[in-house]
Amino acid sequence: MTVAPTLPGAVTVRVPAKVNLELRVGPRRPDGYHSLATVYQAVSLHDDVSVARWEDWQVVAAGPYADRIPTDGDNLAVRAARLVAERWDVDERLSIRIDKDIPVAGGMAGGSADAAGALVACDQLWGLGLDREELAELAAALGSDVPFILTGGNAMGSGRGEQLAPVLARGTFHWVFAISDVGLSTPEVYAECDRLRERDGEHVGEPQISAELMAALRSGDPAALGAALHNDLEPAAFSLRPQLRELRDAGVEFGALGGVVSGSGPTVAFLTESHEASLDLSVSLAASDLCRNLRRAKGPVHGAQVVPAARTA
Ligand code: ATP
Repeated sequence: MTVAPTLPGAVTVRVPAKVNLELRVGPRRPDGYHSLATVYQAVSLHDDVSVARWEDWQVVAAGPYADRIPTDGDNLAVRAARLVAERWDVDERLSIRIDKDIPVAGGMAGGSADAAGALVACDQLWGLGLDREELAELAAALGSDVPFILTGGNAMGSGRGEQLAPVLARGTFHWVFAISDVGLSTPEVYAECDRLRERDGEHVGEPQISAELMAALRSGDPAALGAALHNDLEPAAFSLRPQLRELRDAGVEFGALGGVVSGSGPTVAFLTESHEASLDLSVSLAASDLCRNLRRAKGPVHGAQVVPAARTA
């Protein structure tokens, strides 16, 4: 695919992917969303979102997943930019370039990351000087994961995931992400979760983060964190994609400290002891033939950040 270079005067924002260290799914709310309790960690897989003034709205996508995202008004970065333009009465159109390295429909908040990137980039390009609260409010209107991508680090999310609270954490964690060629639709995974719960007559209470996970983050102990990883959507993801269970079990057998489906999947996140251990695990998983696309990353990393112009030239 031929990709235009970043336009002169463009503002570029780098945005991270997320993994849910714990995801507890409560009952379905009257508005159709489920109440959630989650702990997010931002990890070092990034998209770059660049915006520049242009004669019309345009999306140019680059990178390994470029052909999987919409390039019309459905693109979440365009929706974010249009929302800012409407709210602050900016009568301009933008060319938005997305260098996409976060898997699409992988449970790693790729689309939300691009929306967060566009918000920060538009704020900078148009000199709006939005404060944290204004950005957070726009972010929540665009999607449940968007506010977290703005902040990054580690954070607890409640409501539908958009209400954030800080968590005490120390240490850097080393991950291997096993990425599937075909994504899973988030609404389908929630629907399957509801179906399984109804079939099993499961009582679903208000979701709560475990004390074990919070203690593991406070101590920075990867073994404790590996043992505490949890995702209530995992049974639904396994039900829709049975090979994911095999993949998760294989990673743990090959020495991961823990393995969990990220968000609504199908990416499986494996926590390892160290950088070296993450290399070893990648080699073992690649040799097993269970997954061809393996990415190593560390977390936590910071949230959306403007890239200094010299680095984008
Ligand atoms: P989450 O973890 O927040 O549930 P996800 O990582 O599973 O999300 P996304 O990559 O955000 O999923 O993609 C979800 C859908 O959004 C896809 O069908 C995709 O086509 C669409 N989409 C719209 N804009 C974008 C974008 N800029 N990047 C990725 N996907 C986008």
